[in-house]
Amino acid sequence: MTEWKKNDRFRLEIEDMSENGEGIGKTEGFTWFVKDAVMGDQIEAKAMKVKKSYGFAKLEKILKPSDKRTEPLCPVSRQCGGCQLQAMSYEEQLRYKERKIYNNLTRIGGFGHVPMEPVMGMENPWRYRNKAQFPWGVSRDGRIITGFYAGRTHCIVENEDCLLGVEENRQVLGIIREYMERFHIRPYQEEAHEGLFRHTLIRKGFRTGELMVCQVINGDKIPHEEEFVKGLLSVPGMTSISLCVNLERTNVIMGTKVKNLYGPGFITDYIGEVKYRISPLSFYQVNPIQTEKLYKTALEFAGLTGKETVWDLYCGIGTISLFLAQRAKKVLGVEIVPQAIDDARENAALNGIENVEFFVGKAEEVLPEQYEKHQLYADVIVVDPPRKGCDPVCLETIVRMAPEKVVYVSCDSATLARDLKYLAENGYEVRRVRGCDMFGMSTHVETVVLMSRVQD
Ligand code: SAH
Repeated sequence: MTEWKKNDRFRLEIEDMSENGEGIGKTEGFTWFVKDAVMGDQIEAKAMKVKKSYGFAKLEKILKPSDKRTEPLCPVSRQCGGCQLQAMSYEEQLRYKERKIYNNLTRIGGFGHVPMEPVMGMENPWRYRNKAQFPWGVSRDGRIITGFYAGRTHCIVENEDCLLGVEENRQVLGIIREYMERFHIRPYQEEAHEGLFRHTLIRKGFRTGELMVCQVINGDKIPHEEEFVKGLLSVPGMTSISLCVNLERTNVIMGTKVKNLYGPGFITDYIGEVKYRISPLSFYQVNPIQTEKLYKTALEFAGLTGKETVWDLYCGIGTISLFLAQRAKKVLGVEIVPQAIDDARENAALNGIENVEFFVGKAEEVLPEQYEKHQLYADVIVVDPPRKGCDPVCLETIVRMAPEKVVYVSCDSATLARDLKYLAENGYEVRRVRGCDMFGMSTHVETVVLMSRVQD
């Protein structure tokens, strides 16, 4: 077998795609991961990092392109850490995501038969993000620049017009850059922990057209504030302008203190018929069009008739809870972040929805406590946990409560598979599985699963 070394060049045929979107090829049983290569490509590769049985290689030249390949639209798609799949046609990306879910459910979940329904793709997989956070920095030749971090680094790849974001981003960033140049405002430098302007957060309500700009600063005020506001107000739709103070030496983007400069301090948007108030620090799904499809699917899987008591665990700002409440007798939401629950209650009031109740706390503590104390019953339990999935105590309690249905919304099909396996071993069976693409050009995929209790 060849002893591979760094910088070796070789031919490779790409046969599969990794979880992270790299092309996978083999040379005499040795596995290579190649960023930017697409399944079906024949390439010339250069070894970058060699391990015992696998290595990472760089795509040097495409000798014969795969029929799944397409020309990336973004000129910096390879340098930028944001997208992994731009070189793959969108239809193929959807197939890749469907396979990812299926593979996890069969390999990790141990399910023989997976009732997969077609993944829900986007009509237009570009400009779908309603939110972007742009870091400010200085180029080698001393210009003020913004863009996105290169993969696994904090080097800025200059780009004021990310094709996943809204067109207004470019105008907003141009105005802020000119303001910085005019008043000699320095971008924040992480290593030195100095400079004033950190990230700019831009959000847009897709249905309402309202725009929000929140400038994160390493300080508590900005010079010539009125000029900053005046400049931004020339962008159509500008509704909310604020500063967010972040004095910490941290790579967490937002601080905790917001100073309002213009407007009501929030923008409004809709998912379906439900209205949401979005403040600079609130969590809100970044792809509202696909979110609506995802929640409609969760609602359909829940099969509500108006008589049910539903628990929505990991409810965030109550997005799914309010959606479900339109068809249920009562919805009870549980979320660990107190501010998110404040938003959830406010959003319920904003929509005149009264059949919801929210609890602050860990799902694995609130659910058993409420169940034991009040024997609270559930017809349906919906869960939408973070990537690490549900806590075992949470799953055990669900099994004890024995709802007819469990609807699992997941952003990580590996932990989803693990949790479904537990439920399948404890009286539930998988009835429906459907993927939803919320993040085109990236490797991420959301999944909704319906599990029903097996009658005994
Ligand atoms: N369903 C919401 C949010 C899902 S994101 C929506 O679609 O908008 C997952 C949420 O789980 C986050 O809001 C996170 O704060 C919350 N969370 C994380 N760990 C938790 C736990 N142990 N108990 C309850 N909520 C938790």
